[in-house]
Formats: sequence, structure tokens, C-alpha cells
Amino acid sequence: ARIGGVMQSEPPLATTKSLRLTAQLQSEWQKAGINFRVMLVGESGLGKSTFTRALFRPYVPEQQMSEDERISRDPIRARTTKIHEIVHDIENDGYPIEFTVVDCPGYGDSMDSTSWIDAIVKYITSRFEQHYVASASPPVNGASNGLQRDGLVHVCLYFIAAHRLKGIDIEFMQRLEKHVNLVPVIAKADTMTIAERDSFRRLILSELRHRDVRIFELEDPHPSDAPPSGPMRVGTTAPPPFAVCAAEDGNRVYPWGVCNVEDPSHSDLSVLRSMLFATSMLSAKRRTLQLYEEAYAADRRRREHAQSLSQSR
Ligand code: GDP
Repeated sequence: ARIGGVMQSEPPLATTKSLRLTAQLQSEWQKAGINFRVMLVGESGLGKSTFTRALFRPYVPEQQMSEDERISRDPIRARTTKIHEIVHDIENDGYPIEFTVVDCPGYGDSMDSTSWIDAIVKYITSRFEQHYVASASPPVNGASNGLQRDGLVHVCLYFIAAHRLKGIDIEFMQRLEKHVNLVPVIAKADTMTIAERDSFRRLILSELRHRDVRIFELEDPHPSDAPPSGPMRVGTTAPPPFAVCAAEDGNRVYPWGVCNVEDPSHSDLSVLRSMLFATSMLSAKRRTLQLYEEAYAADRRRREHAQSLSQSR
């Protein structure tokens, strides 16, 4: 079910550290753990890096986050120039988890938009190919090549600039959704009024529907058949797309007030975090395998078969 609205008095699940993995995972995976790969795509300067640090903050110790940043990031953090992966090994609810953040180059800097999207799709397909090869060979050390450690990209957060849905955004999401679970995100939502945010959400959804772009339906951590626990619904529309704001220290301080990025009435950050990690991690992985089958594996097997036929002639 999609989330039906955000109750102000109900704290989102992921303000706690728990990912509620026992509810999602089979116990035999407890020892091996799982991996989860999140890709960030969008124009540079939209706040992707700031947002990602805020997203993972409850799970990845701050010190580990800055060590990983030092190892894998360019010295100029404000500009993302090539696809790079940041791996966070953590333990949650007794499960080892490997979170990988795939930070993609933002177009608008050194890259033109076509080579930008080609590079990103190529990266996702290279992961499909690796999975194809790994699935054909026997598991190493009894580890499974299946769902828990699959090396695929499980979710793509696509960042759209507040107020500005561009043709190119729709075009890119249309290409990406065939390969990856697409989750559209409105960046820097603190620059929009509630009315602007809601009509922008409707605009994005109607454009995506019009072009048959499928978005990944995240599961609601507070299903709508649960008794309502707060009187106030914030806004008139609900995510998706998720309208987020982020800050390094949790607050954005303005001359007229403070935006608390964890407060669901200010930002969908905590709601997105709950939906992504505490309820939908496993379904995202399952759907990734379906997309791999549809977008890659079936065709790859056909090509391999045709090749072996022509060689045997
Ligand atoms: P990236 O290039 O997409 O990774 O963007 P950065 O995370 O480096 O952020 C670019 C600039 O936007 C920085 O000055 C951030 O402080 C600012 N920023 C990040 N998140 C937000 C937000 O939610 N709202 C606003 N208004 N500014 C933000």
C-alpha cells in the first residue's frame, strides 16, 4: 500500500535505529547478512550528498561515515564528477548489512546529458552481467548467490529540482525504470510552500503516468487500516514523489524559522527512510531480480544460445 498521509503525532519508524529486519528476512540469513545498494541520480548541486548522509545517519556511525567519505570521495565534496561507490558495513538487529551508496555524476558540469545517462545505464547493466556470471558458477564457501548478496542496484533515488521538472528528467526516468526500482525525490523541498509542493507532486505523477514510467511502490510503515493516532494530516497529497530537505546537522536555519529535516511535517526524509529500509528492503531486492530477468537475463540467455548454435555449425 502507498502511504496515505503523514500523521504529525506518530513518530516515523526509522527515527529509531532498527531496520526491523527480523520482520522482513528469514532467520537463516542472519549470519550471512544482506547487502543493499542505493543509487543517487540527479543534476549536481541538488543536495544528493547531504541527503544521503542524513538518510543513513541512524544506521551508520558518524565516525564511520566520515572515514568512508575520506577514503572514497574527491577532495571537493560539493561537486560529484564520476560514478563512485561508498560502502558502509554495519550491523543492525543482529544482521550484518552492507550498504552501498552509488553516487552518480551530476550532469550540467563536465558531462552532456546523453553521455551522462548512458554511463549510468551502463553501470547498472554491468551489475546485471556480473550477476549473470555469478549465478552460473557454484556459490563460494557455501554462500548463496541469491537474494541476500546479489551485487545489483536495488533502488535508484532520482532527484528532481524543486519547481523545475525538465523534459530531460522524464526522459531519464523513462530509461532508468526499465533497469532499476525508481523512486522520484523532490530535492530542496524547503524552497516550496505546501501548495507548491502538492501541485508539483501532482504534476510529476501525471507526467510519469502519461509516459508510462513505473515507479517503485514502497510499503507503508503505518498501513491506513491502522487506527489514526493523530488529528493532523500534513498537506493534501502524499508521497511519492518524496519531497525532502536535508542538512548536515539536522536543521536548516532561516531568518524566518527552522526546518527540522527529521520532522515529517517539514520533510519526507524520515518517511522515505522508514519505507525504504524498515519495510521495503526485501521487496526492493525481489523486484530487482524481476527487472534483471526482464531487462537483461532473458535476452542474455537467448544471445548465448544463438552464439553456441552458430559455433556448433
Ligand atoms: P550534490 O552535488 O547533489 O551532492 O549536492 P550537495 O549535497 O553537495 O549540496 C549542494 C548545496 O545545496 C550545499 O550548499 C548544501 O548545503 C545545499 N543543500 C543540501 N540539501 C539542501 C536542502 O534540502 N535544501 C536547501 N535549501 N539546500 C540544500
